Amino acid sequence: MPPDLVRPMPTFLRPALFPVLLTLTLAVGSLTACGDDEGASPEEAASAAPSSAASERALAPPPVTDGEVRVFAAPLLWDGTGAAPISDALLVTRGGRIESVGRRGDVAVPAGAEEITLGGAFVMPGFVNAHGHAAGVRGAESGAEHYTQENLLRQLALYARYGITTVASMGGDGPEAVALRDGQGRSDLSRARIYLAGPILTPRSPDEVPEQFQRLEGMEVDWVKFRVDDSLGRATAMDRETYRALIQEARGRGLPTAVHMVDLEHARGLVEEGAAILAHSVRDELVDEAFVTEVAERGVCLTPTLTRELSVFVYRERPDFFDDPFFLAEADPAVMEVLMDPDRQAAVRGSEAARWFEAQLPVAMENLRRIHEGGGQVALGTDSGPVGRFQGYFEHLEMEMMVQSGLSPEAVLRSATGEAARCLGLEGTVGTLVPGAWGDLVVLEADPRDDIRNTRALRSVWISSNRVR
Ligand SMILES: [Zn+2]
Repeated sequence: MPPDLVRPMPTFLRPALFPVLLTLTLAVGSLTACGDDEGASPEEAASAAPSSAASERALAPPPVTDGEVRVFAAPLLWDGTGAAPISDALLVTRGGRIESVGRRGDVAVPAGAEEITLGGAFVMPGFVNAHGHAAGVRGAESGAEHYTQENLLRQLALYARYGITTVASMGGDGPEAVALRDGQGRSDLSRARIYLAGPILTPRSPDEVPEQFQRLEGMEVDWVKFRVDDSLGRATAMDRETYRALIQEARGRGLPTAVHMVDLEHARGLVEEGAAILAHSVRDELVDEAFVTEVAERGVCLTPTLTRELSVFVYRERPDFFDDPFFLAEADPAVMEVLMDPDRQAAVRGSEAARWFEAQLPVAMENLRRIHEGGGQVALGTDSGPVGRFQGYFEHLEMEMMVQSGLSPEAVLRSATGEAARCLGLEGTVGTLVPGAWGDLVVLEADPRDDIRNTRALRSVWISSNRVR
């Protein structure tokens, strides 16, 4: 890497940037099943909030029923489409979906409907994470035995309490996730929506492509995910003939492709061959104008996953965000303890990969800025789910890092809502507050356009018009 790319420690690592926005109780997510909750689906029981939130939830209306109308009053509503916010807005949902939205007086309110005052300062669509993972991870342990529907629901409930109301699980997904996706079109939903890629495909030659697609049989995956990099020299990179065959096979089946890549050379080839989503930033070198133009013109989406880079090196010492109450409200102390183990910290300090990813983080951030300014589509993505990449919290940290990269807070909010939905082919379903979309919204105590860290000032979260926080 040229020496001019070595920059000072990014400012997001400085403790001053983690002000106390909210006084939250230090409740730790022990999810008790609601055995006395007669009639609740297993989904609802598993996704119930921790007991500390019980009093708050008691104020929430009961789960919405099919056809039930709810009318929400918002002081300022930003719909995620790029339109200017609406002050003194009303949003009407029926059976969990938005029926109408607009300025009070312009919106027809069904007779007899009671208004729900959302309060706060800023109402916006729930956040969409275009690259996360609902994974076989529990606490600090990973393994197939943890890939259960109950555990996936726990993770989707966690995302939801952080306002992340939709998650694209980009690989490693099994039938348990498929069942959750297929069952989420319901008015009483109270956890994040999941969409999925299924298993990550790993053909070693074009000949192996057809058999790899058999692994997706019966899953109706939303995208195909594969990786082309060589894991910093520890594996063999996928050659261009193979990923061309894979992308073409996917296209023939009407499926977009999302790709784990590291280098510009791969990214360029993938874009030329028709990949839809670059699932990480280009990290080896700065992107050039020709590449940026190609990305923009072909409508390729980038999920920057800057917090993924951070997670590779940050645990060499106690990270500053371990003091953020917004983090601590849900963090598992056992996981924090594992990450602060002195031997583990020493291993991270001695890791060449950690050093490389740290050195390349400024490159990733600058490439994000260049692609955004060149007209490329950017979708919030964190790669959260594995141990040390905290679901829910990392999405807020990612948005802060995107602003640090040079994007305006409003551009970041678009990337985390309407733009992400568009990249995922979910436009009009999630990510925007428009008629026909699900009533998934977050209410913030302060305007995040003034300071992106205001996304952490969560007053409430609603999914299918059900309060989940
Ligand atoms: Zn990933």
